[in-house]
Amino acid sequence: MRINLNEVVNMAIVKTTYKFRAYPSKEQKAILNLQMYLCKELYNHLLEKAKQHFKDNGKTFTRYDMIKWITKFKKEHPEYNDVYSQVLQNVPDRLSKAYKNFFRRAKEKRNGKRQKVGFPRFRKFVSSLTYPQSGFRTERKRVELSKIGRINFVNHRKIEGRIKTLSIKKTKSDEWYVTISAEKEDIFPFTNGKQPVGIDLGIANYATLSDGKVFQNAEISGLQRKSLKRLQQRISRKKKGSANRKRAIRRFAKYSEHVSRIREDRLHKISHNLVNSYSFIAYEELKVANMVKNHHLAKSISESSWGNFAQMLQYKAESAGCVALGVNPNNTSKTCSGCGNIQEMPLSERTFGCQRCAMSMDRDLNAAKNILKRATEGHSGSHASGDIVRPSHMKADAAESGTILGASR
Ligand SMILES: [Zn+2]
Repeated sequence: MRINLNEVVNMAIVKTTYKFRAYPSKEQKAILNLQMYLCKELYNHLLEKAKQHFKDNGKTFTRYDMIKWITKFKKEHPEYNDVYSQVLQNVPDRLSKAYKNFFRRAKEKRNGKRQKVGFPRFRKFVSSLTYPQSGFRTERKRVELSKIGRINFVNHRKIEGRIKTLSIKKTKSDEWYVTISAEKEDIFPFTNGKQPVGIDLGIANYATLSDGKVFQNAEISGLQRKSLKRLQQRISRKKKGSANRKRAIRRFAKYSEHVSRIREDRLHKISHNLVNSYSFIAYEELKVANMVKNHHLAKSISESSWGNFAQMLQYKAESAGCVALGVNPNNTSKTCSGCGNIQEMPLSERTFGCQRCAMSMDRDLNAAKNILKRATEGHSGSHASGDIVRPSHMKADAAESGTILGASR
């Protein structure tokens, strides 16, 4: 679907993920940890079973097979009766997803993409429990989880729409969060009467707008970088398995969470500013899962926050009377925003100099203009799609790789 700026409404199903800090009691933490341990064991059993099944029959062990098998498994392992059945049923979902990703990567590799295929692996730990449909209830200051109890949490944002899933997870520094995803159908009016804009997300400049404005994310300072490095070195100096090492790991995790929170705060401010300054925001649909893994610190940090940023734009746009739309990112840097000519643009080139119409423009600005055009104009050709991006898809990818994204406020 393409946005026609003269049409004033646009209907879509909006998925939003809410994230709340939770404070389980000591006893509840013990229960949660035990259940996560059981889910990890179950996951590994299922993976083992699936491998064996394939070896014996040459067939996939389907989700249905898994659920049937779990019923039998529970009879031999009564301790699993203490875990809510829907939570257990989410374990095959996770494994099925790991398999699906594996098949996708294998297919991409066959098509010439250079990457590791990575068969689903046994897990050393599971750090979250998911209630897919039922078994939970939110109250003003507590969330009630079946077979766990009523856990204190900071319910700072009103949940709108139908709740689809609820997860509780713990971070490496033993902080707990409840994430709730909800869905609702909504009409977006362009009501704030401002201008439309395209945004290019990059590394040199975090966000470049099609009208020439530039936003930077909070820099990681030299001091923070040094502290991170020092804390990391401390871990390697401690004996493996020792209490000191565990403490060092926790300190490092805590500090890196602190640093990323500062950056996230800045993204909240930028996205807030944008939705209140424009009527329509086009950004690149970024496939977090497809991004090249690399060890360049600045790059990997930016990449990991882009999906998060897009999500902020989406949910903030709504209440600001603005529409945010993800567009296909192909060739946005390589296309001349003046004449449409496509040419090679190595990453080192900071200026787009068109070989056809001789237009010369900052690389990111040119891209931002293309992104806006792609969402609003009827370009022909396969790269001209302006499909609505459901930010929660990116979310799912990120959640799987263990990143915690989407702190809300
Ligand atoms: Zn040109």
